[in-house]
Amino acid sequence: MPEGNEIHRFAERHAAALAGKRLRVDSPNGAFPDASILDGRTLKSVEAFGKHLGYVFGSDLIVHIHLGMFGDFWEGKMPLPPEKGALRLRMWTKTDWVELRGATDCSIFDQRKWQALLARLGPDPLRQESDPAPAFALIEKRTTPIGLLLMDQSVFAGIGNIFRAELLFRARINPARPGKAVGATALRSIWRDAKKLMLAAMADRRIVTTRAKDRPHSRGPVQDQEVHYVYRRHGKPCFVCGATIKKQDMGGRTVYWCPECQKN
Ligand SMILES: [Zn+2]
Repeated sequence: MPEGNEIHRFAERHAAALAGKRLRVDSPNGAFPDASILDGRTLKSVEAFGKHLGYVFGSDLIVHIHLGMFGDFWEGKMPLPPEKGALRLRMWTKTDWVELRGATDCSIFDQRKWQALLARLGPDPLRQESDPAPAFALIEKRTTPIGLLLMDQSVFAGIGNIFRAELLFRARINPARPGKAVGATALRSIWRDAKKLMLAAMADRRIVTTRAKDRPHSRGPVQDQEVHYVYRRHGKPCFVCGATIKKQDMGGRTVYWCPECQKN
């Protein structure tokens, strides 16, 4: 599932290609029946909040897209490619096209529904104006494991399974540690780290969380098997201490950690 860095990047790219222009819009597979309402209208902006996208055609005409596990976009220059697959939404101008397949949601929100969604989301590390204080206050009251809290989009918006595992490794915190036992200093540093790593991932188009000094190949381009400390590295040795990385189910998603570096 794409994390916040990818969603924000889609918003940037789609805004650059489509915003300020009158769009043609359709839904070849019929799964977005309201497409015809948007056809011929001008797209004003594209907004990203956590893992949610909003294509703003008007204050009560916002296409909400949540990719979920299986949604994805395809983009290109005109002409349109032949229709194929479960093509749910297609938007195009004279020069550019964007296609959407398989999202969890693609529907029109009015302002009330859009604001209700935003009110349910926690601060997003990739939005300048985000204030993390409410999230810190909430975590400091909870006995829920920090590994679950970081994935809860009402606590922080945009952090997914990769960033959860990697942020906790970099903070040397076990995913099972209760929220209230994490402490204010560690929470502030996790937030700063999330901002830094997610911004870098937007620019690099991949998530790299390892520091050069910790990688087996510390020079040259980062090798794919050395981009993460723990995520999907179960059974392999920790780059820092050599202990075997572990994995376990946590809230329906697999969490990865080093039993030595993240003892508790
Ligand atoms: Zn370790």
